[in-house]
Amino acid sequence: MEKRDELYSGKAKSVYLTDDAQKLILFFRNDTSAFDGEKVEKLARKGKVNNKFNAFIMEKLEQAGIPTHFEKKLSDEESLVKKLDMFPIECVVRNIAAGSLCKRLGIKEGIDVSPPLFEFFLKNDELHDPMINDYHIQSFGWAGEDDVAQMKTLTLKVNEILKKLFLDAGLLLVDYKLEFGRFNDQVVLGDEFTPDGCRLWDVTTREKLDKDRFRQGLGGVVEAYEEVASRLGVEI
Ligand code: 5GP
Repeated sequence: MEKRDELYSGKAKSVYLTDDAQKLILFFRNDTSAFDGEKVEKLARKGKVNNKFNAFIMEKLEQAGIPTHFEKKLSDEESLVKKLDMFPIECVVRNIAAGSLCKRLGIKEGIDVSPPLFEFFLKNDELHDPMINDYHIQSFGWAGEDDVAQMKTLTLKVNEILKKLFLDAGLLLVDYKLEFGRFNDQVVLGDEFTPDGCRLWDVTTREKLDKDRFRQGLGGVVEAYEEVASRLGVEI
């Protein structure tokens, strides 16, 4: 597999073309950002930890029947993925109240959300990723009716798989964000699943072991990611 030009540079990953038009290389950088790119820092080892963490989770999801773009890990910081036609949408599921849900609705952090909440957001930093619903998505052509149904079904199925996986490792899956795209007419999970895009709390102490450590200036960000990886048995 030959790496070609950079296609796109995101806040924490760079995406490269390859000699295969249907495959891309994701390069997980050490950059960490929050508040739509307003706070940015380089954190040693984060690229490597997230690449390996993502590979582990994507493989678990694939084994459980979720179609993902993940093909294989290429190096410490790089993975090969299928090239999807991405929907400009973020799918969020919440099992415990935190983050923007608390701010938006005045809900107390930490209360159980049952049944879990599903929310759509438009992927647009300038607009601060506003919340949208199925009607916005279809009226503005961001995805079709069947795509919307598939994104909901798959995102909620991921919840059942990962809630258990994390709980077995002594972790609560508080919430997470997924992004999907189309590959040969199929809705497929893209982007990444790492502690950058989910909230994970220790089941006993409720200590935060995810990107909220960075957002809230709690320190020990990569150490927390490594702790989560080690509990899951991810080799770093
Ligand atoms: P919230 O809406 O509370 O800010 O985020 C809900 C969940 O989705 C959290 O786990 C958060 O990390 C994730 N999330 C939401 N938007 C983004 C985003 O733009 N980038 C990343 N990395 N994660 C996000």
